[in-house]
Amino acid sequence: MRGGRMSLMYELLLKCTKCGLCQQVCPTYQVSKNEMDLARGRVRLARLVAENKYKWQSQIVHSVETCLQCGACVESCPSAVKTDMIMNLAKRDINKVKKPHAISQFIYKKMLTNPKMLKFIGEFTRYYLKIKDKKVLRFFNKLNPIEEVRRLEQGLPAYKEDLPLLPGKAHVTLKIGYFRNCANLAVFNSLAQATLKVVRGSGAQVEYLSNKCCGAPHWFSGDIQTFEELAKYNINNVEFNNYDIIITDCATCGGILKKYGELLDTVEAKAFSDKVMDINEFLIKYGIPDNFSYKTRDDIVTVHDPCHLGRGQKITIEPRKVVSAIPGTILKEMKNSNWCCGGAGVYSVMQPKMSDQILRAKINNILDTSANVVLASCPSCIMQITRGVKLFAPSYHIQVLHPIEYLAQNIMNNNIKRQTS
Ligand code: SF4
Ligand code: SF4
Repeated sequence: MRGGRMSLMYELLLKCTKCGLCQQVCPTYQVSKNEMDLARGRVRLARLVAENKYKWQSQIVHSVETCLQCGACVESCPSAVKTDMIMNLAKRDINKVKKPHAISQFIYKKMLTNPKMLKFIGEFTRYYLKIKDKKVLRFFNKLNPIEEVRRLEQGLPAYKEDLPLLPGKAHVTLKIGYFRNCANLAVFNSLAQATLKVVRGSGAQVEYLSNKCCGAPHWFSGDIQTFEELAKYNINNVEFNNYDIIITDCATCGGILKKYGELLDTVEAKAFSDKVMDINEFLIKYGIPDNFSYKTRDDIVTVHDPCHLGRGQKITIEPRKVVSAIPGTILKEMKNSNWCCGGAGVYSVMQPKMSDQILRAKINNILDTSANVVLASCPSCIMQITRGVKLFAPSYHIQVLHPIEYLAQNIMNNNIKRQTS
């Protein structure tokens, strides 16, 4: 197994001065204290492969695969070392010489590229969530030999009834295309319901786009060919020119959709990216929370900043503004709210030990706030933190929601404040 000077962007690797400042911010290093789990160590190993001093042997591959690609090191690196990009390039090389894990292959190649299968899973999940007493099912799930499936089950959200739609009034005269993410199709119908309720209730016209997966999981796992196929499909098939804005309620989708222009470098891809907005960004830009009256709550709410939203899109204030729209809520910041939760796509399934250690730290930070509501703008983070609460804080009643779900749940139906444009 050989990497090679030509196959990795060698100049990226040379920038690291080995200063070690990434130690303080790297979630994997903080739990393992192992140099191979740190940006500096990972970059050094990748360089040794690029210089043909080592092959992609298992320990080096492990060091690459345990990187969350969270970007925390990149943000704090004085030498602007792009470790997330280096890991991406390393994964491309590793894919050429190592057979990918069967589960991740199934999820990436069969499930995420097939909207019909996602819809079928969505129907099944909805039925499963609706069963009130799951004791017998959980008993059988504990016996399930496939650990990955057991872990996914633990992250399922609570069942939520469909939300009634509000009558639309024309305060926002925009035509919105809703880029529905894969987790939304397979697990989070409630999230789609919430988004439709709020956006339609504000008067905007909103339609589902006929999109496939955004391709982010493939991009971050180094499968650039599938990423490009999906991105091109989306750009060519969703008729984005018919819409003023493309919204997404997934931080990871938003992050990559906004990068289609840069990554594909075509006029169409750039035009597509220019229309993309994260739902929090959209809500605050158009003053949408002000359109509704809300139930008064006495919740303590804390906000987790998904890597692809806070660091990736610089959207941190908007989800907090959404919280402040609900009367009676107290926003309490958790320590390290911008630290990865260890979800990172299929990371929690592929790297269970490291993922759980990172998750435990996140849950401890949540518990320190005494919050009864955690908001996260990414379905993968919601599933991971939901799992974490079940695992590490089972006696606490903590709801884990997307900000748009929290907003939608608390709108007083048929009580829209602003009725005219
Ligand atoms: S990756 Fe950046 S912060 Fe980390 S050791 Fe290298 S130069 Fe320093
Ligand atoms: S991307 Fe995240 S996990 Fe990977 S080395 Fe940087 S800080 Fe650590």
